[in-house]
Amino acid sequence: MIVDMDMSLEKKWLGEERAKVAVKSLCRRNIQAEYFSTRYEALEAVLKRIPPGVTVARGDSITVDQVGVIPELNRRQQNKIIDPFRWDAEGYYIDSVEAREQMYREAFSADIFLAGTNGVTMDGKLVNVDGYGNRVAAMIFGPKKVILIVGVNKIVKDVDEALERIHQLVAPLNAKRWWLKHHEEDKADLPCVKTGRCVECVHDSRICSFTVIIDGTKASNKDRIYVALVGEELGI
Ligand code: SF4
Repeated sequence: MIVDMDMSLEKKWLGEERAKVAVKSLCRRNIQAEYFSTRYEALEAVLKRIPPGVTVARGDSITVDQVGVIPELNRRQQNKIIDPFRWDAEGYYIDSVEAREQMYREAFSADIFLAGTNGVTMDGKLVNVDGYGNRVAAMIFGPKKVILIVGVNKIVKDVDEALERIHQLVAPLNAKRWWLKHHEEDKADLPCVKTGRCVECVHDSRICSFTVIIDGTKASNKDRIYVALVGEELGI
């Protein structure tokens, strides 16, 4: 029997078609990219790229958590992990502000930096906006390899669409998350947290301080960045 209200098959098809285009575009820009139908396939591929003995640093990423990379690395016990985003059961940071700051800096000399991304354009650009800058900075320079795990929901037409999506959807939801789930009280006062809309604020606690567009890498740096595009809705 046909269940016409369930559009999951059609959405899967569309996500895959869009991902195929994005993968080709990324590769043209010297960014290695692969498509995986599920998060489980992506997890397997990502783990294969993390050999024993290397140091892995992570950026804040709901996608990385949804795919389950860090728990699996912890279970294997073969890598040093720099993880400034460890929370207790109540969502409070386990590490002090000073310790996290230290980890942000240590991440630059890690072998692998693991994160998500805010937007991937169909023509292969990676678009990210950061409040503190540690994530986007490590994507650009420092760690020898960068592994980004990205759901197909992050694929957009172009940079303009990526920035619109980030400011109107990603940033407000993230700021709300940091306030509600991780007790960052200063975020409660942000205009986007109060109204759900970005007003391009200049608030002291703004989370949109650094906008970084990765257009690609030089041939000498080819495949430093690897993108695992996943045919699922992941992250924000
Ligand atoms: S209101 Fe400010 S913090 Fe919120 S999304 Fe816009 S620029 Fe970012």
